[in-house]
Amino acid sequence: MARHRNVRGLKYDEDFEDDDVYGQSVEDDYCISPATAAQFIYKRDDYNRRAFAQEPLEEGDEYAEDKVEEPFHSNQPLLSEVDQGKAKEQSARVDADIVPKVAKMTVSGKQITGFNIPSTNVDENDPLRKGAVSEEVSPPPVLEPSSKSNSTAHVAPLSEETTVIQTPSKGSVKARQQIDVKAELEKRQAGKQLLNLVVIGHVDAGKSTLMGHLLYLLGKVNKRIMHKYEQESKKAGKASFAFAWVLDETGEERKRGVTMDVGMTTFETKTKVITLMDAPGHKDFIPNMITGAAQADVAILVVDASRGEFEAGFEAGGQTREHALLVRSLGVTQLAVVVNKMDQVNWQPERFKEISNKLGHFLKQAGFKDSDVAYIPTTGLNGENLTTRSQIPELKAWYNGPCLLEQIDSFKPPQRPVEKPFRLCVADVFKDQGSGFSVTGKIEAGYVQTGDRLLVMPPNEACTIKGIALHDEPLDWAAAGDHVTLTVTGVDIIKINVGCIFCDQKAPIKTCMRFRARVLIFSIDIPITQGLPVLLHYQTLSEPCTIRRLVSVLHKSTGEILKKKPKCLTKGQNALIELQTQRPVPLELYKDFKELGRFMLRYSGSSIAAGVVTEIKE
Ligand code: GDP
Repeated sequence: MARHRNVRGLKYDEDFEDDDVYGQSVEDDYCISPATAAQFIYKRDDYNRRAFAQEPLEEGDEYAEDKVEEPFHSNQPLLSEVDQGKAKEQSARVDADIVPKVAKMTVSGKQITGFNIPSTNVDENDPLRKGAVSEEVSPPPVLEPSSKSNSTAHVAPLSEETTVIQTPSKGSVKARQQIDVKAELEKRQAGKQLLNLVVIGHVDAGKSTLMGHLLYLLGKVNKRIMHKYEQESKKAGKASFAFAWVLDETGEERKRGVTMDVGMTTFETKTKVITLMDAPGHKDFIPNMITGAAQADVAILVVDASRGEFEAGFEAGGQTREHALLVRSLGVTQLAVVVNKMDQVNWQPERFKEISNKLGHFLKQAGFKDSDVAYIPTTGLNGENLTTRSQIPELKAWYNGPCLLEQIDSFKPPQRPVEKPFRLCVADVFKDQGSGFSVTGKIEAGYVQTGDRLLVMPPNEACTIKGIALHDEPLDWAAAGDHVTLTVTGVDIIKINVGCIFCDQKAPIKTCMRFRARVLIFSIDIPITQGLPVLLHYQTLSEPCTIRRLVSVLHKSTGEILKKKPKCLTKGQNALIELQTQRPVPLELYKDFKELGRFMLRYSGSSIAAGVVTEIKE
């Protein structure tokens, strides 16, 4: 349990009670160093630049390249007063060059990445932009009657205990079927709970191989395809990557032998249906990883047990710590640490212990409870200890804990705030055949049923949900925690970007261009000053913004104001800051919506702070 903290003057103290990293002190030597960047940053060819236009600060534009050459930790003066004009100019360039995450257009269901849709042409004077609900928003349509429902039409009032939705279906009887969402959720998937899982870890730790092999052992990849992958990978001189190919689907990923996007697939354990997100480990793909992690309930952190390799991933320069801090900052509290490639160290218990101890110490500092972290020795390549407990004598001699699948099964199911107003953050937008278009994303709160009218923020426009699919199965309804595809009509696809939020039109999410937040500064070498242009990562959105004001430095434990209007912020500090975006972004206060009140700040390819929204300025 985290210690009790009295966060004076802040209303969200109870939320910080036992679930947050922000009030805690993260030991300096365990913090992320922005100096870790350079070695993992590629020089991309033009193809890749186009394909990854969505992550501008780190690639593709001149500004980013300047920064790679002279990163944040170099001795250049950080944006002092003199530099602020330059900062604004840079920020403007960043903004002009990058329209945040670009909608991916899909034809016949096949995604073509890197298709740039111009930024939405929205009139800034339009009153609708200021958070007002569109007058075009019409009440939810009366749904087609259900053939299943009985003929007496009645709508039960929403009670606190049960959340009721009406299911549309074909038929002629004028009645709405009432569904108790919580009860239906328990019945669904044969009573199995849904869990969104992200796989994180340093590049080459063996994430894709591990999960590819797991899927193969679970029968998710047929033998013929696996054989084909083996043959092809051999031919390409990358035989050891055959299992990774199960997840790394595009030719480009195979050519480079790294995972670039967040692939998604599902599998089942005894009590759960898992949506798996294999996150990219390379430094320049971290924004994609954030998108995956923002939608995850739990995480698997893969580390390479080989001598020198674990150290390379863990010490400065590696992604192990940064990934762990990121997922924790994004709300993940349960973690399975997979100590992989144990074959490389002859299954030595001493090595396993050494790694578990080092990581355990750090993870505690990062805000994970000991009881929520499990350590599992594996070899992804040979499939040991993945779906069944390994019988290898060298391991059996000292380990009798769960295999990876058992560990995944024992994760506690996440909270599903189905009674809160509907919220879904768009993770992808694509055009299918037929009318309308589709968006995917995790429902963060509430529920939706086909025929519902929802509001999209921005651009503050109403739309109709024509269809819902969960794991490719069409459904009448879906609720918080589900990772769904919604078929949408009534709004132009060009206005919908990754990062938009679909919400309840009666209780929409607010949008703003200025907000205050309490932040925890990661291990940065050069202090943060007013005017610094940074990248705001909020759910699936990444948007350029500026640190407009440093309001105060706060005490890490009590939240007391230690200093007003500080000149700069340094590593490990807790502070209240004001941020300014150039376009409206949808946000929630942390105290109202824990899941939607968190964000990350990145600068020049490194995560520099995690924060919670405390005040939204109009
Ligand atoms: P990722 O970047 O974390 O997804 O790593 P990959 O899955 O692409 O694996 C990187 C390399 O490590 C590949 O050559 C794999 O074959 C190899 N590898 C993965 N797991 C193991 C393992 O358990 N033992 C050994 N010896 N090699 C492994």
